[in-house]
Amino acid sequence: MAKRDYYEVLGVSRDASEEEIKKAYRTLAKKYHPDVSKEPNAEEKFKEVQEAYEVLSDPQKREQYNQFGHEGPNLGSGFGGFDFGGGFGGFEDIFSSFFGGGTRTSSRTGPIRGKSLKTSITLTFEEAAFGTEKEITISKLDTCTECSGTGAQSKKDVETCSRCHGAGKVYVEQSTFFGRIRTEQTCPTCHGQGKTIKNKCNNCKGEGRVRTSSTIKFRVPSGIEDGQTLTLAGKGEAGLNGGLHGDLYITVYVQDHEYFIRDGLDIYLELPITFSQAALGASIEIPTLKGNSILKIPTGTQTGTKFKIHNRGIVNSRTGSTGHQYVIVKVITPTKLSAEQKELFTKLSKTNEKTNSIFDRIKKFFNK
Ligand SMILES: [Zn+2]
Ligand SMILES: [Zn+2]
Repeated sequence: MAKRDYYEVLGVSRDASEEEIKKAYRTLAKKYHPDVSKEPNAEEKFKEVQEAYEVLSDPQKREQYNQFGHEGPNLGSGFGGFDFGGGFGGFEDIFSSFFGGGTRTSSRTGPIRGKSLKTSITLTFEEAAFGTEKEITISKLDTCTECSGTGAQSKKDVETCSRCHGAGKVYVEQSTFFGRIRTEQTCPTCHGQGKTIKNKCNNCKGEGRVRTSSTIKFRVPSGIEDGQTLTLAGKGEAGLNGGLHGDLYITVYVQDHEYFIRDGLDIYLELPITFSQAALGASIEIPTLKGNSILKIPTGTQTGTKFKIHNRGIVNSRTGSTGHQYVIVKVITPTKLSAEQKELFTKLSKTNEKTNSIFDRIKKFFNK
């Protein structure tokens, strides 16, 4: 659709004064504002009016528009790019910009959410791997137990607010350029609670919450990793004026294990074996998370060989995925030999000389 002429949109002549433009805009903005208008296509019309006013109220932009029309430089890309911030300014915003923002009288103190708290715990390797129940004690502002958060000495002290008659909100009439406007506000007497308190609770002085030392039990899911944070919804501080509790964030630190090294859900075990076990093969008892297990080392196993034991890693109880256990073999060179062992190694080394060793192959390479 072709753009309408901005002067036409505002219904003013090309030589209209700034005052005339402003007046036309106020009239049309009131007529088409989506919050109040019953006109068809109000939203579209409002945008059109807004756009025309943006340009014609700015002497520099108006000059450019007069010269170049909609395609004028610095007027945006034909105004497709006008930014309305994803919506419209509230009705109040529009007239407060005319009044310098002095028309708002409401004190907006509705429910206030309680503060969220942060803490941390340290778990053993096993606790993190298998999941656990934990308990922590924190100091926080919590609902007063004397008055159950009402802030009143007794039930009789809670009265229906005389200002809003329990509705929690009041209507305020304001005179504006657009006529008298009725706006809804949170009741300033009861802060939206609809109730007032005659005699305040002695324990919390009417606030409905007191600082307490609170012990919180919670479940740590299996598979949690070092540095992850658990969120306990609603376990933070109590809110005000009927606001919700905040949350409690617990950062988890995991201790190292004596043998196992963890990588996500996988666990690694370095297994020292002897020369003879590596050469001859062996069945070796190894620790796993589910108790000891037998690992078969085949004949001729090299140092650094990695064995995978399927599904013997950590189970993440949230996702259901399971890791594996890896065993990395490390052949240990003996440092102290008994006389018998020395003799056997010597015999062994003589047999080695007869085999086609890497040294023979190197010699052959150089003698070619
Ligand atoms: Zn009230
Ligand atoms: Zn209390």
